[in-house]
Amino acid sequence: MKQGNSVFADYGTTIFAVMSQLCLDHDAINLGQGFPDTDGPLDIRQKAADALIDGPNQYPSVLGVPDLRRAVAETNKRFYDLDVDWQTEVMVTSGATEALADCILGLINPGDEVVMIEPLYDSYLPMVRRAGGVPRLVRMQPPGWELPRDDLAAAFSDKTKMIILNSPHNPAGKVFDTDELSFIAGLLKKHDAYAVCDEVYEHLVFDGLDHIPLMTLPGMRDRCLRIGSAGKTFSVTGWKIGYITASAELLTMVAKAHQFNTFTTAPNLQLAAAYGLRKDDTYFSGLASDMGAKRDRLQAGLRDIGFETMDSQGSYFLTVDFRPLGFNGDDAEFCRHSTTEAGVGAVPVGAFYQNDGAEAAPRHFARFCFCKGDAMLDEAIQRLSRHFKTRS
Ligand code: PMP
Ligand code: GLN
Repeated sequence: MKQGNSVFADYGTTIFAVMSQLCLDHDAINLGQGFPDTDGPLDIRQKAADALIDGPNQYPSVLGVPDLRRAVAETNKRFYDLDVDWQTEVMVTSGATEALADCILGLINPGDEVVMIEPLYDSYLPMVRRAGGVPRLVRMQPPGWELPRDDLAAAFSDKTKMIILNSPHNPAGKVFDTDELSFIAGLLKKHDAYAVCDEVYEHLVFDGLDHIPLMTLPGMRDRCLRIGSAGKTFSVTGWKIGYITASAELLTMVAKAHQFNTFTTAPNLQLAAAYGLRKDDTYFSGLASDMGAKRDRLQAGLRDIGFETMDSQGSYFLTVDFRPLGFNGDDAEFCRHSTTEAGVGAVPVGAFYQNDGAEAAPRHFARFCFCKGDAMLDEAIQRLSRHFKTRS
């Protein structure tokens, strides 16, 4: 039998699917894959249901339903004071995952270099490689996850086509500040490069911090492609509605990939996402403060058990060092053990690194997801405590 594509053949099943299946098999609480345990606001889901019955149900425009494109442009203005032309500068995709793929496929030529920061979301590397891009990886080190400025500057060259930047960051929970973003902006200008900005957790930032899109910095408006996700913003991760904001010139190139990839996305879900984006500010501030309280709850519980917990300024996730518990094994073994023996699933942070990289990935961190009801978080803490506290 002839083999499939060699880039994808090198990858197994994603860690998120593997850990979720293990949780199902062992009746474990799934704090691995990032998804809320309750569906998003009823009025938003009702909009989707109504639009499914009332229609339209045929192919929407390739850039997306006008109502959602308008709403994305409006939210750019409302939250970030960005002036965006909804007709030429916004495109709807089937999730941020497709948006990332479209940006990568639409912009990269074989041999172009792409700067990425480890730990990194699992779809970046395979898609860059599949597009013929050459990954240039730099690393943020725990526990502070500081931006490695010297390494970053050294990774850029005139062959750099783009950086892929994720803020708020999965799994580190880091929110990049203006100073860090300015440094990156300087490199983009110096090397005439673009930034694909994965901002799916833009509305999940805690402790009064602000999410700052790189696109808002001087000179960055036409270099950045800003990606959002209705799945995260409205707690409906299965919907797979993403959106890209970019200059008309960049978006035209990316839309070419989109039209051959999915062409378009379910119209009823687009209309419901448009409705959601027009919710008043209390929805968005409530989402962030609820999630911040969940982070606090899980963090306190894990600390009490003896984990060393890292800060999480945003996202759904908290990373912990499990070495203080005396666990004898690496992160994959820890997460498997925690799922099968303690009854609580997590994701090994080593999965967010290039496996065959020259420098070994840290293997003593696990990622726990806190976008769950309080009762579930408490039960998870109890289970972990019963298992690990009596063990040590
Ligand atoms: N980027 C990051 C950093 C993510 O955590 C996720 C998680 N789902 C995605 C992109 C993909 O988002 P979507 O579900 O909208 O495709
Ligand atoms: N973004 C989610 C996470 O990091 C997973 C999405 C997926 O399973 N592809 O857990």
